[in-house]
Amino acid sequence: MAKKKVQIKSKAQSKKKVQPKKKMALKKKVQTKGTEQIRFIGQTTKIRQTEPATVIEWPRSITHVHTYGMLSPFFEGLRKGQLRVTRCPNQNCPEKGLWIPPRAHCPDCHTEMRWDTLPNPVIGTIHTFTEVVYAGTGIELSTPYWQVDVEIPGLATIPKSYLLYGKPYIGMKVKAEFRTKKPTNTVLDYCWVPYEG
Ligand SMILES: [Zn+2]
Repeated sequence: MAKKKVQIKSKAQSKKKVQPKKKMALKKKVQTKGTEQIRFIGQTTKIRQTEPATVIEWPRSITHVHTYGMLSPFFEGLRKGQLRVTRCPNQNCPEKGLWIPPRAHCPDCHTEMRWDTLPNPVIGTIHTFTEVVYAGTGIELSTPYWQVDVEIPGLATIPKSYLLYGKPYIGMKVKAEFRTKKPTNTVLDYCWVPYEG
């Protein structure tokens, strides 16, 4: 193997390359004593496989910023223990019923909806129900739970919610309950309980 030619700069040569004084003045000595080393502050990734290529598991989490927009009064109502509904103010509209989930605009005539509050207690009747054993991702209720479709007088819709306790049957009377003490600030803040009366 041929010896590599190493050029050793003469003093004169290196002096030539010295940068102008102005730039030299900005150069500071790097402090190494007493400084902390850069640390890895993440979590070690798990290696899932190495063949034919390395694959790691890299968990990510994000905060999804979501606006309730024109439906905000509905969620404000839940926090106050009220079930708020929308109705179409257009007198010529064929749909006179109230809407839950609320709508910003009438699905029939596209007029901007008006808000109403159902008087408490809100009593409904179970139209149908199903037992949820395996909830989908994002369902923040313990399983199993009873998902119930409840008929509420005056409504154009039969909204879905859940039965807080008890066993449902078709035609069962239920009363709306609100999670005002520990609100989740989601639609889960209202549910139904069996109603005797
Ligand atoms: Zn309408």
